[in-house]
Amino acid sequence: MYEKIVAFIQNTFATKNFIPLHEPRFIGNEKKYLNECIDSTFVSSVGAYVDRFEKEFALYVGSKYAIATVNGTAALHVSLVLMDVGENDEVITQPLTFIATCNAITYCGAKPIFVDVDKETLGLSPAALRIFLDENAEIRENQCINKTTGKVIKACVPMHSFGHPCKIDEIKAICDTWHIALIEDAAESLGSYYKSQHTGTFGKVGAFSFNGNKIITSGGGGVIVTDDEVLAKRAKHITTTAKVPHKWEFVHDEIGFNYRLPNLNAALLVAQLEQVNYFLENKRALAKIYEDFFESLDVQFIKEPKDSKTNYWLNAIMLDTKEQRDLFLEYTNSHGVMTRPIWTLMNKLEMFKMFQCGDLSNAIYLEERIVNIPSSVRI
Ligand SMILES: *Cc1c(COP(=O)(O)O)cnc(C)c1O
Repeated sequence: MYEKIVAFIQNTFATKNFIPLHEPRFIGNEKKYLNECIDSTFVSSVGAYVDRFEKEFALYVGSKYAIATVNGTAALHVSLVLMDVGENDEVITQPLTFIATCNAITYCGAKPIFVDVDKETLGLSPAALRIFLDENAEIRENQCINKTTGKVIKACVPMHSFGHPCKIDEIKAICDTWHIALIEDAAESLGSYYKSQHTGTFGKVGAFSFNGNKIITSGGGGVIVTDDEVLAKRAKHITTTAKVPHKWEFVHDEIGFNYRLPNLNAALLVAQLEQVNYFLENKRALAKIYEDFFESLDVQFIKEPKDSKTNYWLNAIMLDTKEQRDLFLEYTNSHGVMTRPIWTLMNKLEMFKMFQCGDLSNAIYLEERIVNIPSSVRI
């Protein structure tokens, strides 16, 4: 069967050469805008492309403001800072995520708490979240207090895994009830919608990534989105060294970050965003091809969850056992077809293994069985 899968993927990508998991495509105005940017000499922290990208991105996802950052991790870090997450706070997230989510929480001096995911969305489970809070938390003075540690559970960061929206409206309702700030890690979900609303726009703030393997890329880059003008202004301020605007004086009114996206990267992103709808259609067509093929093999293909439109950023299949998964990874990777397992659960990593967890049965099940398969835009 593995031989058949490799042949199918080679056929689908019309090559027998190495097939990577996700390659960027620069088939629009990238070179033109980059050249314009270089000719203008505004290649760094100030420039028209940054402003243009922020406007166009906000419009695309349907949020009032977008603030570009140097990468997605920085966008997440600042999102947490905006929600006042600091030393001694706790932040609920899912164990099945890329390391950046937990790193950002840790940069604030806060501690992650791991709550299980849903099998059908691969994202944070509202049912598991409700159970965790009912069992472990109480409201005191309008704050959610963890009864075990006595600390404030300040925020919750669900992640839309591989672009599949989690049940974000239910999660939002729970967070509201418990006075927990909702921050979406939408790094993987540009172009994914839950009940016709763009992911990343449900919480107070959302973060996206434009790393080389994402839906659109600027080499490295990220963005924070919000509908709140005060938060948007503060995001811009602290990502640009907290400098008080003045024609010549250098006065900074707090410890800020040098997290601004360079204009060069923004030029690339403006061109990439022009093509995002084409990329999405192309990726959804590929997903349909995979879906039909794996159905014929009786292999489970991870499909768009209910009430959602997904970007199919990375296609994934679920194998029956960990042993099968390992054999599949071995076979495909040694036959020029790049595949990879889902992330090692965050709560297993040395830096995070001491933190509190809910029941993680679904995450453990998925960790052993999920494999990503080549998902680039085909041209
Ligand atoms: C890519 C990604 C990020 C951000 O990564 P950067 O490389 O810093 O842009 C954050 N969270 C998740 C889940 C991601 O996949």
